[in-house]
Amino acid sequence: MPVSPWQRRIQRAQELASQHLFAAEILGFYIHVARFQEDLHQRLSAVLQSPPASADRDLTASELSELSSRFEGFLSMAEARGPKPLAELSRELHARGVDFWRELLNRGWTAPSASDAAGLLAQVFLQPYAELLRSRASLRPVPTAHALCPSCNRKPALGVLRPMGDGGARSLICSFCLAEWEFRRIVCPGCGEEDDKKLAVFTASDFDYIRVECCDACKTYIKSVDLTKNGRAEPLVDELASAPLDLWAREHGYVKLQNNLLGL
Ligand SMILES: [Zn+2]
Ligand SMILES: [Zn+2]
Repeated sequence: MPVSPWQRRIQRAQELASQHLFAAEILGFYIHVARFQEDLHQRLSAVLQSPPASADRDLTASELSELSSRFEGFLSMAEARGPKPLAELSRELHARGVDFWRELLNRGWTAPSASDAAGLLAQVFLQPYAELLRSRASLRPVPTAHALCPSCNRKPALGVLRPMGDGGARSLICSFCLAEWEFRRIVCPGCGEEDDKKLAVFTASDFDYIRVECCDACKTYIKSVDLTKNGRAEPLVDELASAPLDLWAREHGYVKLQNNLLGL
């Protein structure tokens, strides 16, 4: 039986947690999130006959009722397994009840990016459904010069370099529906800057296959996982594990283009 993308990410998270103690808590929580997401993806694909549209629209009434009924389980999981601030937030949200959850989920679905920690948690929960809708939509992402996801219009969460010829081709991965699209290598996805003198790339010895791509024009950064240097990496998971690079970038005055599921 082929291994699912979630199982691959879980295995990679286990591997990285044993190598990088500082990331063990984050990755331990991520493993629970990924298990929940895989289960949710399977359940939703069985019960929801989604209209042939991308994630870029409002949720229907039946989608909202299905999703909000499963959100409670997600909050319980985050309460029990999340790092302390997330566990506390989940407890608070739990107490707010289903009407509040519906509103939160609908907002998380339509907002271009989460405006606070509750919105972020909602988007993490919704992410497998966004991925499901994208995989069902007939429209395939086409190469674009645009820095927003061609399927759902969200910002990219990270970049990837995949082996091509003697070097690597760059693509970006959507923070919500996980679509991947090609993107020119020497362009800032935040502002479109093309002057390579303003586009610095940093690496650290702990994660020599992860590039911190900074832009001095708009002061944003995005991390890219270089699969030409490390073919074992699972980009989403390795991005999470390399939190020290985010701290470094912040200390140097850069703002991340799009935070990951832990708000980093
Ligand atoms: Zn997307
Ligand atoms: Zn820029």
